[in-house]
Amino acid sequence: MVHLKELTLQELEQLLAQWQEPAFRARQIFSWIYRTGVLDYAAMNNVPVSLRRKLEAAARISALSLVEKRLARDGTEKCLFRLPDSQLIEAVSIPADNRVTGCISSQAGCKFACVFCCSGQAGFQRDLTCGEMLDQIAFLKFQSAARELTHLVFMGTGEPLDNYDNVLKAIRMANSEDTLHIGARRITISTCGIVPALERLAGERLQIELSVSLHAADDATRSRLMPVNKRYPLKELIAACRHYNKQTGRQVTFEYILISGVNSSLADARKLGRILEGFDAKVNLIPMNAGVSAGLQPPQKLDILFFRDALVKSGVRVTLRKSRGQDIEAACGQLRLRYEYEK
Ligand code: SF4
Repeated sequence: MVHLKELTLQELEQLLAQWQEPAFRARQIFSWIYRTGVLDYAAMNNVPVSLRRKLEAAARISALSLVEKRLARDGTEKCLFRLPDSQLIEAVSIPADNRVTGCISSQAGCKFACVFCCSGQAGFQRDLTCGEMLDQIAFLKFQSAARELTHLVFMGTGEPLDNYDNVLKAIRMANSEDTLHIGARRITISTCGIVPALERLAGERLQIELSVSLHAADDATRSRLMPVNKRYPLKELIAACRHYNKQTGRQVTFEYILISGVNSSLADARKLGRILEGFDAKVNLIPMNAGVSAGLQPPQKLDILFFRDALVKSGVRVTLRKSRGQDIEAACGQLRLRYEYEK
């Protein structure tokens, strides 16, 4: 059985050619799936009945099985899905101002075990397919409370650059005007810093946004928070990010979770300022989401502001982000983890 969401438009055209069907039918089918959210061939009333029968016999339009949906007071909506092999994955819809951002998972579980992240705590299960990522995107677009999707971030469970080919295919599909037509500049890959994959990404000539989880300004602290740093230390990571910026002209965003007593002193802010000197980059400060990891707490409000001001003083562009959806366990992997333990 063919899975239509695993196919690009050209691949579907090739399949239809094997069935002696005209190429333009592929565009009609894509329009039903990605523009209208129709998953039932019977409803595709501009597609001949004979072709619909062939599709029913040989091709499947996948959809995710929803386990739970939670809507936060701030409009953030978290969806937990069960895949056919029983893996649980999460996707989140985040409305803010004039945009609705879909936060997509790229793997079931994660190998990288960052200490502040629930996804890393349950271990790695498997890569998601392109179709499973498009399923999440389509679900948020057609079945979330917002029923809209303007931006995408690959920031859910998993490390997107560890599932490189499938993630790049899903991004190209979401970006294509034949499917969801989400602008490349509205799509963000968020990575823990896999240096060889970052170098490869720089050569893709995509105008997507790059967001890098930094969370510390020295190797000892970063390796403690993010074991991946032992393999790709800060110096190599920052060099790869500068290369990405040079190749693509896109500003790089660094995510920095502020954790009390760990990485949020004024000395840390100054070290961070030195690392990013002369770099077309922005730092997103995010106070630690209490309850995600035992013993890790956000700093006091005043300390957060001191940290921000010290960074600004060293010439770094800074935004201070609020954690969204705290009342619905919206942090990465939080809802899934609770299910794993309660099963
Ligand atoms: S932060 Fe990202 S890379 Fe780290 S454990 Fe969580 S999902 Fe994996």
